[in-house]
Amino acid sequence: MIALREALSKLAYMIKDTAADESEPDWIACHVLGCGRAALKLIRETDDESFEKMTAVAKERATGKPLCQIIGYTEFCGLKIRVNGDVLCPRPETELLVEQAILFLKDRKDARALDLCTGSGCIATALAVNTTAEVVASDISDKALAVAEENARRSGAKVKFVLSDVFEDVDGKFDIIVSNPPYIPAAEIEKLDREVRDFEPRAALDGGEDGLDFYRTIAAQAAGRLKEKGALMLESGEGQAREIVKMLDGFDCTVVLDYCGVERIVKAVKKSV
Ligand code: GLN
Repeated sequence: MIALREALSKLAYMIKDTAADESEPDWIACHVLGCGRAALKLIRETDDESFEKMTAVAKERATGKPLCQIIGYTEFCGLKIRVNGDVLCPRPETELLVEQAILFLKDRKDARALDLCTGSGCIATALAVNTTAEVVASDISDKALAVAEENARRSGAKVKFVLSDVFEDVDGKFDIIVSNPPYIPAAEIEKLDREVRDFEPRAALDGGEDGLDFYRTIAAQAAGRLKEKGALMLESGEGQAREIVKMLDGFDCTVVLDYCGVERIVKAVKKSV
């Protein structure tokens, strides 16, 4: 037996040279013990076998591999989302995008929602679980779509997935279009933490020279793909929101800050003509 507090500080030491935040030892223990983080606080000690399993995870984490890829899932909007090297690991900021989209959809009956660059399908799945909207999601990667389909199925969410380069093979008009597209400027990718640079799919990161390629494509076609008073909601990287707003003529835009005060979500409502 080992005191849990001691086990956690050993795990923290093992992964100290990574970009892990201080919550990761807790998550490793939760994964091995099969409990939530609140329940973890009530556990005093753990057996040797469980501690060995925890150290095996920490050892792999010390190579820089993201925890979600080691354990195969992460939590997003209260859902367990499966992750592998073919998709971006869902980030907490993206939950803000989902929250805003849910609020918008609350008063709309028979709504249709579209999630572009769906990746793991985390946004589409969370929207389908939390609203009555018909949800469509697209991605250019068939490997990502396989992960997304599994996530929707396991969460009991009905989502129509389409293999498509942004809007290309998507039909119809929508009440809301959401996206967290790749937005890292190509030359910046090499400067990212190795967790991201060496382990997450390049196609999920690379937003072209200035990082804004996907926003330009989406902004150019969004108005034609939205119903009357429809909304476009986009997650963006630091310093990009204002540039995106400039692309959105014909929309009333507001910008939502994330937990760190970064302008993160662009909300754009189509003006009536
Ligand atoms: N939409 C997915 C997410 O938010 C994937 C994003 C991406 O690959 N850039 O996690």
